[in-house]
Amino acid sequence: MSRKILHVDLDAFFCAVEEKFDPSLKGKAFATGGSPEGRGVVTSCSYAARQHGIHSAMPMIQALRKYPELLVVRGHYKDYTDFSRQVMAIIRELTPLVEQISIDEAFLDVTDLPQEAVEIARDLQKKIYDTLGLPCSIGVASNKLMAKIATNIGKSRHTGSNYPMAILYIPPGTEKDFLAPLPINEMWGIGPKSAERFRALGIEKIGDILKYPLPWLQQHFGKFASDLLERAQGIDNRLVEEYEGVKSVSNEVTFFEDLGDRQLLLRTIRGISEKVGRRLRHKALSGKTVRVKIRWPNFETITRQITLPQPTDQDKVIYETASTLFLKEWKPGKKVRLIGVGVAQIGDDYQQLSLLDHSYEKEKNLLDALDALHERFGKDAIQKGIQSDNYRSWKDA
Ligand SMILES: [Mg+2]
Repeated sequence: MSRKILHVDLDAFFCAVEEKFDPSLKGKAFATGGSPEGRGVVTSCSYAARQHGIHSAMPMIQALRKYPELLVVRGHYKDYTDFSRQVMAIIRELTPLVEQISIDEAFLDVTDLPQEAVEIARDLQKKIYDTLGLPCSIGVASNKLMAKIATNIGKSRHTGSNYPMAILYIPPGTEKDFLAPLPINEMWGIGPKSAERFRALGIEKIGDILKYPLPWLQQHFGKFASDLLERAQGIDNRLVEEYEGVKSVSNEVTFFEDLGDRQLLLRTIRGISEKVGRRLRHKALSGKTVRVKIRWPNFETITRQITLPQPTDQDKVIYETASTLFLKEWKPGKKVRLIGVGVAQIGDDYQQLSLLDHSYEKEKNLLDALDALHERFGKDAIQKGIQSDNYRSWKDA
């Protein structure tokens, strides 16, 4: 039986919230975002503004050049967060199988509900609008990929200066035909840069991917090739997963005897970092905050953390950050009872398909191969210098 997956996306969310506070904005061309002097960008723009060629992520100065009458509204970010929470609460009344992927977007798995998926979508859209006054669009399909694309296409078919409030349903079995004529940049995960690469290879439409044999695709897209082939047919078996509970991934080691040897301590940190990286990659997660936990022989315990500019799931980045944090606290010879390493501020690795940057890919391929070995032969297959049987999970400190 095919699944019933919904993708909900609020329409011009920030603008819709601003209109609630200032109804005189209704129907006007306005945008939220930073000031043009401060090199701000458009974070959201009304549908009236879109008719003048304004879109989000556009530098504000450029938007004003395009349409000098554009009203610029300073964003009220706290209110956006509040409303986002209320929207998600309404969605969670339907099912606990909710995966929020941004402030104004979520997937729901409603397979178990008795009603037709489209009916559920209509009711949900109405409920969010009636309760909070916020418009949304919903994509309805048999998997996350298709539901997300359904929302985007539903919105893009909308014309006029009011909110789209689109509902687009892609019936099971029609996925491949639906995708075939779409421009390659409509494939979820293919950003503008990657789209350029596809076009350079003669792939203009999503359906064009299927004209090429797997080995050819592998030659150009490495390990993403088989994913690509599946996605181009509208196949996506990923689950709607609730990450609410997963705030950090971490592991720690308690030594049998307090340890003061620099080499051994760093090797332990490396081993734990690798384990944390492996667990992140296994769940296709990455995080921005790297943490180190140190317990001294007198049981005093400290935690130190740092936030990286980019989320990571890479052993090397985790290790280098964790060891730097550790060495800031440790003096030569000082004994340690326990060490933990964690990665927090976790989000989903949605950029997978656009990660076609080769240096990254190379490292990632190697790590994937190591992960696969671990999977097959267990953690003892690859010993990189530490006894790993003393791991214990260390939840959010
Ligand atoms: Mg939105």
